[in-house]
Amino acid sequence: MTIVGTSGLVLNEKLLFEHSDPGRKGYSLPKLDVPAAELASELCREEIDGFPELSEVDVVRHFTRLSTWNYGVDSGFYPLGSCTMKYNPKVNEAVARIPGLAGIHPATPSHLAQGTLELMYRLQVDLAEVSGFAKVTLQPAAGAQGELAGMLVIRAWHEARGSKRSKVLIPDTAHGTNPATASLTGYDVVPIASEGVLTLEEVEAHMDDSVAALMVTNPNTLGLFETNIEEICKLVHERGGLVYCDGANLNALMGIARPGDMGIDVMHFNLHKTFSTPHGGGGPGAGPVGVTAELIPYLPGPGVEFDGETYQVETPKADSVGRMLAFHGNVGVMARAYAYIRSLGGEGLKHASEMAVLNANYVRARLEGVYDLPYTTRSLHEVIFSDRDLEGGCHTLDVAKRLIDYGYHPPTIYFPLVVKGAIMIEPTETESQEVLDEFCDAMIAIAGEARDNPDLLLQAPVRSRVRRLDETTAARKPKLRWQETT
Ligand SMILES: *Cc1c(COP(=O)(O)O)cnc(C)c1O
Repeated sequence: MTIVGTSGLVLNEKLLFEHSDPGRKGYSLPKLDVPAAELASELCREEIDGFPELSEVDVVRHFTRLSTWNYGVDSGFYPLGSCTMKYNPKVNEAVARIPGLAGIHPATPSHLAQGTLELMYRLQVDLAEVSGFAKVTLQPAAGAQGELAGMLVIRAWHEARGSKRSKVLIPDTAHGTNPATASLTGYDVVPIASEGVLTLEEVEAHMDDSVAALMVTNPNTLGLFETNIEEICKLVHERGGLVYCDGANLNALMGIARPGDMGIDVMHFNLHKTFSTPHGGGGPGAGPVGVTAELIPYLPGPGVEFDGETYQVETPKADSVGRMLAFHGNVGVMARAYAYIRSLGGEGLKHASEMAVLNANYVRARLEGVYDLPYTTRSLHEVIFSDRDLEGGCHTLDVAKRLIDYGYHPPTIYFPLVVKGAIMIEPTETESQEVLDEFCDAMIAIAGEARDNPDLLLQAPVRSRVRRLDETTAARKPKLRWQETT
């Protein structure tokens, strides 16, 4: 019997091994028109144990059915937060696939790679313009690697001045990569408390001459703008430190405010979060880093330079922290980002930020009073609720699982850690009011179910291929390959 789930998906698809029919073939070869040659026997196998035998159409239909199980931003609303999991215009995909860009070898000499180098140079300039920094390197392959590059630059700057500092201040709202980066760079992590946003007093209380840097995310992972950022940067500078900004949430600021103008010294971008490139599932990304003029000598290289006529790969600089990658970074991601920036223009980028903020606030206004809102300060690009007011003994995990029955990918849950039972929703700029209304209707209905019929939530999901998994066993004793059940 065929089991059908949400949107008519067939959920009990057999494995290829189970579809197999002995003797069936997926190919047909023309008759030999040359004498057959014997292959040496050690090169041949009589048969491959359990090898599936199938026709071409069996295989195509099998994988097409499997592909419909995948939920992605191309199939529906994707409310995950802290990662700007946005819909990316397909034209940027087409640009990245232009054969001259997609097929070029990274060791091609500069004079034969002018198009790619020009694109990289212009992207460096555009990102510097959007963020307010003096120079940008495109090398790092992800946000986390950008953090590492940026913190290595900060360490090199301190070392060059003979300053021996050992600590990095990180607010309790930070993404886990921030403390990981600080510790990889050889610093001790000092967590500092925020009250939604960082206060000058809290930073002042920790800011002594052993602190190399403050790492801050703006807007932070609560979706709140760090309103004291200018005073905080001033204070850190007065006491001999530098300020690193995690730029993962630039989607809320671009075209409106520039971190470089706020006094920040170093920032990474996540091109795959802010400037178009599908991400998730560990696909390639890019984490360029922008710095103030003072820090340029330490940037990882090589970047691309322009002498007014030709574009060249820079020669290594003496004080540079070195390379982050063997070649030039993920150029396909850069091509998408460049196409995104040029097709939107300055006004378009600003509009995208405004729509991202408006959409988050629309969700907030519709769900406020239904779900607890732990911080009442105006949200930027994402909004964080909690499960505090949920009835029927239901929690954040139950809401997330029930959303699957309504046909949605769940939002980010239990992050940031400072909010107990956090539900983090980031709609991004691309969603229409109808989509947001339908999602909010589902969230409101689920809160009602928690009150009237909590079992619906506690049992959820009931309409998916697999029900609630034993996540501990799945992590500790994963079954990584199919085995025939006897
Ligand atoms: C995603 C994210 C990172 C890490 O970026 P990657 O590109 O995934 O390595 C760091 N900080 C914040 C706030 C993020 O959302």
